[in-house]
Amino acid sequence: MFIFHFAKDLLGFFSKKMYLCTRNKLNCQLKSNKSMEISRILQLWYAQNKRDLPWRETRDPYRIWLSEIILQQTRVAQGYDYYLKFVSRYPTVADLAAASEDDVLKLWQGLGYYSRARNLHAAALQVMSAPYNGLFPSRYEELRKLKGIGPYTAAAIASFSSDEPVAVVDGNVYRVLSRLFDIETPIDSTQGQKEFLALATELLDPEHPGTHNQAIMEFGALQCTPLSPHCPDCPLAEKCLSLANRTIDKRPLKTGKVKVRERLLHYYLYKYKDTLWVRQRPGGDIWQGLWEFVITEGDEILHPEIPVAFTIRHQLTHQLLICDFRIIELPAPIKTLPPEYEPVSWQNWQKKAVSKLISEANKKFSALF
Ligand code: SF4
Repeated sequence: MFIFHFAKDLLGFFSKKMYLCTRNKLNCQLKSNKSMEISRILQLWYAQNKRDLPWRETRDPYRIWLSEIILQQTRVAQGYDYYLKFVSRYPTVADLAAASEDDVLKLWQGLGYYSRARNLHAAALQVMSAPYNGLFPSRYEELRKLKGIGPYTAAAIASFSSDEPVAVVDGNVYRVLSRLFDIETPIDSTQGQKEFLALATELLDPEHPGTHNQAIMEFGALQCTPLSPHCPDCPLAEKCLSLANRTIDKRPLKTGKVKVRERLLHYYLYKYKDTLWVRQRPGGDIWQGLWEFVITEGDEILHPEIPVAFTIRHQLTHQLLICDFRIIELPAPIKTLPPEYEPVSWQNWQKKAVSKLISEANKKFSALF
């Protein structure tokens, strides 16, 4: 039965590609034969090796979108529980739009990159208004108009939910393609992005774009892994140019131009009995909308005479934060702080959405309350 389906699929696959190539030259035919073979091998490997994940059991673009946003810069093991929490709390896009941004940030707490959560909420509100009117889109062009949905995410949602033939290019795809074809173009260059997208599109199976996209990403995640790819049992080993050229550990190539800025932050726990003073971070910087203690930055230190209680070094993608924390025990409630700061009880403070850094500081401060 499986062989029958395989032969039937293969026939359909060939006829579609043949049609696409009649407009082109002989080398297109040759190249496409190779592409078809690679896609077929990937899909076969996927059928035998894929992980059972809850977002793979649905074609609902809303749920696929949730999983894609959660899984950006997040490992599957960590994203799994968050996906279940979000689907359970907000089963539809209308439920998500009806929530407050604060509640969404609180549920997101611990995942990092909080702009994803803010965009999630903003996009849900967009979908609830015209021209979507509550219907989550499943086509690439419509998806691209929503906040926080870039080319990769739009291609993933469109191909997984409605089999639209658009290729995905994420970190896993870059790695697989750069090794398979031994490509030297840096993946973080404009030229590299164009080349890899063209190659991913060439390889895409127009009959099963969703499965093909899932397959190549899963192959990168499980087989062609960053540090120890499983080459001895790789079904693409015979075709892999990096394996032949012994360049696997050099692919993919990056220009490596990420600059890391160092920032010195001073945090102050103003404490009166069980009350402390906090604010919600404004826009235009990291952690917009999350809560924190009184803060100054750089050379501005409010109480240099008070010793630092502890220091936390916190690494972000482009910033290294060196954060000093001081405790100021007050004899009476303070009235001289800027108006953005508000008093809150320690108990209510635990309900606020905070960054990983502040969460770590909270644990150290908990003995004081
Ligand atoms: S042979 Fe190794 S490097 Fe090449 S595609 Fe397979 S796992 Fe990746």
